[in-house]
Amino acid sequence: MAQVELRRPENITGDFYVDTTCIDCDLCRQIAPRTFSSEGEQSIVYRQPSTPEEEMAALKALITCPTASIGALGNHPAKRAVAAYPEQIDGEVYFCGFASESSFGASSYLIARPRGNVLVDSPRFARALARRIAELGGVRWMFLTHRDDVADHEKWSSHFEAERIMHRDDCGRSTAGIERMLTGRDEIEIDSELLAIPTPGHTRGHTALLYRNRYLFSGDHLWWSDAYNSLNASFRVCWYSWAEQVRSVERLLDYSFEWVLPGHGRRAHASDARMREYTEECIARMKQQSQGAVR
Ligand code: SF4
Repeated sequence: MAQVELRRPENITGDFYVDTTCIDCDLCRQIAPRTFSSEGEQSIVYRQPSTPEEEMAALKALITCPTASIGALGNHPAKRAVAAYPEQIDGEVYFCGFASESSFGASSYLIARPRGNVLVDSPRFARALARRIAELGGVRWMFLTHRDDVADHEKWSSHFEAERIMHRDDCGRSTAGIERMLTGRDEIEIDSELLAIPTPGHTRGHTALLYRNRYLFSGDHLWWSDAYNSLNASFRVCWYSWAEQVRSVERLLDYSFEWVLPGHGRRAHASDARMREYTEECIARMKQQSQGAVR
């Protein structure tokens, strides 16, 4: 629960507020941009919701916030916001909300499909979310893009008896029980719709998931940047090898996709041709970063 005594003074007066425990994960600003903004490396409420739609968006941000840093005084329909997740993004692809602090507020996704649902990275475990996912068919596979965004993977896999898939090079003590460890650097077909693409760089065993040549679940490999108005990857948060990460982004030019759905950062949607251009722009910028020209 957010604490009213920790309410940031920069919040505008009203029911909704952000307290000083915010970790600046950006999710509330993505979910409810008409309510939340950035101020001094944390979020604030810059404008109180003034319509039922804005109130619902602010409540969804409250539910999703990984650190429970968002408060709402008075009566608001929070149960409806809980029931809104998983929230459909496009087709069979849903955003799970309920971010976890242990993955620094990474986004996780559900692919709900007749051949077996896939949970991509781990939301915070919550019974209400589990019930909704069960209504959508449960979870057959849990695909973990890399070691940082595994959060409550054990609880989810045990609840749904889901098989977890992760690259061996990113498995450690907390993921030693992963049922299916991927190896090597070649693409791996999970089934005819799902392709695991090893993308070392951010971490050694980072692996993206491509669904139906349309949706690229990119983990922390690359994401949309409003600042560059293009796809981007960050030298600052590259924990393994920047040179490898550049090569891993170049590798994505071999594939078609129209969506980039990251763990951290913003989503992107464009034609596959435009996405290719964005990827090329990202590679050019990464190569400049390699030479120290851009940080
Ligand atoms: S969702 Fe929570 S932690 Fe993330 S930026 Fe908003 S208030 Fe901060």
